[in-house]
Amino acid sequence: MIPENQANFTMQLVIPRETQPGENRVSATPETVKKLVRLGADVVVESGAGAGAGISDADYEAAGASIGSDRSALLGSADMVLRLRKPEMDEISQLKAGCIHVSYLDPFNEKDLIKAFASQNVTAVSMEMIPRSTRSQKMDALSSQANLAGYMAVMLAANNMPSIMPMMMTPAGTLKPAKVFIIGAGVAGLQAIATAKRLGARVTAFDTRPVVAEQVESLGGKFLEIDLGDTGQTADGYAKELTPEQVEIQRQAQKAVIADSDVVITTAQVFGRKPPVLVTADMVEGMSPGSVIVDMAAETGGNVEGSVPDEVVNVNGVTIVGTANLANLAPRDATQMYASNMFNLVEDTWDEEAKQFVLDLENDILPGCVITHGGAIVHPTIKDIIEGDNRYVQ
Ligand code: NAD
Repeated sequence: MIPENQANFTMQLVIPRETQPGENRVSATPETVKKLVRLGADVVVESGAGAGAGISDADYEAAGASIGSDRSALLGSADMVLRLRKPEMDEISQLKAGCIHVSYLDPFNEKDLIKAFASQNVTAVSMEMIPRSTRSQKMDALSSQANLAGYMAVMLAANNMPSIMPMMMTPAGTLKPAKVFIIGAGVAGLQAIATAKRLGARVTAFDTRPVVAEQVESLGGKFLEIDLGDTGQTADGYAKELTPEQVEIQRQAQKAVIADSDVVITTAQVFGRKPPVLVTADMVEGMSPGSVIVDMAAETGGNVEGSVPDEVVNVNGVTIVGTANLANLAPRDATQMYASNMFNLVEDTWDEEAKQFVLDLENDILPGCVITHGGAIVHPTIKDIIEGDNRYVQ
């Protein structure tokens, strides 16, 4: 990891352009480039990388980066790659041995990608796997992007409604406030509650983690009480998967609230597993025409029967929004937050004297998110999934 000739070594950090169609976010801003350069890194940004977020090559250059247009050469020369989306398979073979690659990786499902990182002797860091501790919050991209996504879900609901969210008293009559039901009150759900409240809606929410009730109420929402028996949460604050019987109890208890809602926003996820189906076809049928459902889990399997990933569909007059990658709808803010998460991760284990990112696999953060290192899969859970009994894969 640490090059032999340390005295003359300047670590090259490469920011590639994101290639996924429609992806407008990027992993650095001029602000974070400035800070990375200040640490002593040599930052190279691929030409056009910031276009989707409104950042020009000149902006990056003014911040101290150099601009490169030969993508293969950039990847091949990188000591560290900071990007957002997982790489294409053929890009892994372009990376040099010992390179550190930081991005989303979807490591529970991307077996071949993880194996390729290991056999290329690249250290792969997964942004999904940043541990959930107080100290690592500033690096937590799942949370930073979920926050924006929760806001955007309400914007999409508002845009698709035939009515408005707030109560309005006018000489032409009184408009009732919209009734919004939010299923899942984690990072995205809480932001959705706050946003819908700010727009004047009447908000009800439910989550299987009972600790959340107080947070929902502190935002002005009403918490729907459902007795599911033992639910709890993992040490990382994630929901545990419900039994089929518990899912059924939840469905029945929510049915009347859903039928009475103008908007339902579903954010219910169970980390590393398929999300539960909580709004069934008959519940959609039970909603009034003009109602809107935003299924924030559509891309990963869906909380709503009938939702289509990345599409807006109409089922008997009910609009079901399955738009994916909601944070990407605010690319400037999403980029600012993601880039800041990346910088905080780099800075955390940057050795000021050696002027490089020193991989400290003994610290409290990296062992949780380093998936491959030294030619092997080193993350125990991922290793177990890929080389072991596959029990997490669905
Ligand atoms: P997530 O995206 O995995 O899930 C979203 C929400 O869906 C969660 O609140 C979950 O409890 C809920 N859910 C799952 N199954 C459900 C069901 N059947 N019905 C209703 N809701 C269901 O989780 P998230 O939003 O990323 O985070 C969850 C929590 O983790 C946060 O609220 C927070 O307490 C904690 N957290 C801690 C840190 C930290 O300490 N650094 C960072 C981020 C989040």
